Amino acid sequence: MAKYVYDFTEGNRNLKDLLGGKGANLAEMTNLGLPVPPGFTITTDACRHYLAAGVVPDGLDQEVAEHLDALEQQMGRRLGQADDPLLVSVRSGAKFSMPGMMETVLNIGLNDESVRGLAKQAGGNDRFAWDSYRRLIQMFGKTVLGIDGDLFEHALDALKGRRQDTDLDAGELQRLVETFKGIVHEQTGRDFPTDPREQMRLAVMAVFDSWNAPRAILYRRQERIPADLGTAVNIVAMVFGNVGNDSGTGVAFTRDPGTGRQGIYGDYLQNAQGEDVVAGIRNTIPLEELERIDKRSYDELLGIMETLENHYRDLCDIEFTIERGKLWMLQTRVGKRTAAAAFCIATQLVDQGLITLDEAVTRVTGDQLAQLMFPRFDGGAGKKKIAKGMNASPGAAVGKVVFSSARAVELSEQGEDVILVRRETNPDDLAGMIAAKGILTSRGGKTSHAAVVARGMGKTCVCGAEELEVSTREGRFTAPGGVVVSEGDVISIDGTSGEVYLGEVPVVDSAVVEYFEGAAPEDELVKAVDRIMSHADSVRRLGVRANADTPDDAARARRFGGQGIGLCRTEHMFLGERRQLVEDLVLAPTDEARQAALDALEPLQKADFTEIFRAMDGKPVTIRLIDPPLHEFLPDIVDLSVKVATDGATDKDRRLLAAVKRLHEQNPMLGLRGVRLGLVIPGLFAMQVRAIAQAAKEVPGARPEIMIPLVAAVQELESVREEAAKILAETGVEALIGTMIEVPRAALTAAQIAEAAEFFSFGTNDLTQMTWGFSRDDVESAFFSRYLDQGIFGVSPFETLDREGVGRLIRIAVEEGRSTRPDLHLGICGEHGGDPDSVHFCHDVGLDYVSCSPFRIPVARLEAGRAALTGSDSDTR
Ligand code: ADP
Ligand code: MG
Ligand code: MG
Repeated sequence: MAKYVYDFTEGNRNLKDLLGGKGANLAEMTNLGLPVPPGFTITTDACRHYLAAGVVPDGLDQEVAEHLDALEQQMGRRLGQADDPLLVSVRSGAKFSMPGMMETVLNIGLNDESVRGLAKQAGGNDRFAWDSYRRLIQMFGKTVLGIDGDLFEHALDALKGRRQDTDLDAGELQRLVETFKGIVHEQTGRDFPTDPREQMRLAVMAVFDSWNAPRAILYRRQERIPADLGTAVNIVAMVFGNVGNDSGTGVAFTRDPGTGRQGIYGDYLQNAQGEDVVAGIRNTIPLEELERIDKRSYDELLGIMETLENHYRDLCDIEFTIERGKLWMLQTRVGKRTAAAAFCIATQLVDQGLITLDEAVTRVTGDQLAQLMFPRFDGGAGKKKIAKGMNASPGAAVGKVVFSSARAVELSEQGEDVILVRRETNPDDLAGMIAAKGILTSRGGKTSHAAVVARGMGKTCVCGAEELEVSTREGRFTAPGGVVVSEGDVISIDGTSGEVYLGEVPVVDSAVVEYFEGAAPEDELVKAVDRIMSHADSVRRLGVRANADTPDDAARARRFGGQGIGLCRTEHMFLGERRQLVEDLVLAPTDEARQAALDALEPLQKADFTEIFRAMDGKPVTIRLIDPPLHEFLPDIVDLSVKVATDGATDKDRRLLAAVKRLHEQNPMLGLRGVRLGLVIPGLFAMQVRAIAQAAKEVPGARPEIMIPLVAAVQELESVREEAAKILAETGVEALIGTMIEVPRAALTAAQIAEAAEFFSFGTNDLTQMTWGFSRDDVESAFFSRYLDQGIFGVSPFETLDREGVGRLIRIAVEEGRSTRPDLHLGICGEHGGDPDSVHFCHDVGLDYVSCSPFRIPVARLEAGRAALTGSDSDTR
């Protein structure tokens, strides 16, 4: 028969799935011999059964009755016994803590008779007994009977007036109980249930039901907690902090959850029960003062906190109650902490000999590290918030508003900090985005151009702030409430929260970034990061490279620990002044004219590559030959049509328009691009390969790798490869030639493609689009939030690699590719290369390296180390 109930003496901390976190840890403390009031736990299994079937499972009532009997025996009192009652609490507790999301009812077992028995137990303390009773009706009414809690609060407030709850005397509290009972009757049409066992049974079911309360559902979705876990229910003998001033209740941490520093951190409230401490009904006192009030309990508490830290080998938080000088432990768990504290605590525990460095690496996450790398606002209080958009790229930025890329460059050259504000950005805004401190757009989602580019650069970005009306032409935007912000006005944007403020909010830089940039580790946090990163590097198997297109990015990549460039895009090298040459290339009437345009581009490209090879100083550089469709480099079709329709258009304009019309595509993403372009425009790829070879010759030790994009068939790759190999042979330069795997067909025919490729790099942005059959720019804002709400994705497949679909294609390609060519070098260069969960996948599937934006390199290094230490079932949370 299934076992649905566990006594605290039967459980332990490893049974969180079954007993919930609270139950498992109450059992653990019980078995450590700590003073925990006796009790038992109804399993999550029972809850799941109840939620699915609508009734509790067979045998549960019986099992609960047996455990209650045993508890009554042990306590020498029966639940709700009139002259000497046992009272219990009925407490929710799921596997993952969901603070304040679910229900707990205290003082179960009180009714008009047992309230007098309780008073007698406490030496004739009527006030205490009636206070406990009114609390029961209040909590029960709200959580079990679903009555609006404000009705009780208002009645209590009306009675208190300006006094505190402790000033109410027994008579007043007794009258309050009558008032509360009246509220229950009025709201439910029935009397407050007086049978203790009935109270308990109803409370248990209310806890089960609270798993599916709207706020719990919302919280789980946000925190990515699975919806089908269910909650356990703990039945715990009551101890009382509200008996008088020799009693009280408190919460504490074994160290500071903000910094990790050891010490006494907690709050205490005399003559109080349960939630009173956190509810803020009266001012709490710092835990240190308990030493003065009740030294014996205080010393015992400190001893227990030390025991817990040594036992859990981590920061714990606790809830405790003192009943007339006797200390009781009511809860503990490994406590939440800030990102900074996580790093400090991990290394402190190493120094204390409690954990190894391996464990320290597993105790921190890439997300925490990322948080430490962004500049922050030093408190936004008192500032005028004017809008909220999407938190597209974290960080804090302050500057003068500009509305064009050119103006951003101009002002930043004069030493001004600027925020580039656009309706949406496009590739031509790149220079302005680089020059700006931050980027704000009124349209587009988290994978819009602005967001992707900003994240790549580690630049603060808020996008899709739809309340803003941006008028680039008039040089101003308006925010709700008629706030008008003109060019030159200062705003502050918070890419971590998505908030936009008028005026300047003070910003502090990240010391961790300064360390990665080369500063010596000085403060405790940076030293901790340094130790953990070095250890992660020493244990990881995955290499980490950078996606870097410019010498500056390349240099940063090296400083941040990049072991090479995994993706150097070349398209930006055709922008700006060089557009002219691309136009010449497209318009060339003869082979000679085309070759002339290419010949003009070649030395420029060579110079681009030379600089990047120098910056990488002998580390490999994977250069992707030109990928986007050519019309992206030509003028906009509408602008050009207008120009041609009016006077003053040149002959070239007319020819350009014809070319633009000819090249126009319905689905550019699926059009003439990548290797297709290389095959259709003679000499284009050859020019790039020659430029790479010439540059490599000039920089001793340069290690170029030539990467062909968008290959779907080995035949495409073979013909490009042949031409490239010939050029390399002529120049006497050695370079690997490989391909991106970003079209499903390439993954599925990897065995053939590997015949012609010395390396694969998974381009998971395109591979995700093509596998799902949606184009990222179109679908993100159109329906992703719906899909997330409906649980079709837990997270966007552009953020975290979709293991089941896209991941399956990668697995196939890895296996087939290596079967053809055992030394095939394998990497990933999509945005996923810097995403923690995706890094773990890359480790599991056996890639050689991940490549990500320079700013994400430390995150990838850390997660690669964690993946090596934790194996494939690793959790990146
Ligand atoms: P939460 O999960 O919201 O923290 P808890 O189940 O821990 O809810 O209970 C709420 C409050 O009631 C806590 O302060 C807890 O310490 C207190 N409490 C719970 N059970 C008992 C008990 N048996 N005796 C005294 N106080 C209790
Ligand atoms: Mg609690
Ligand atoms: Mg691609």
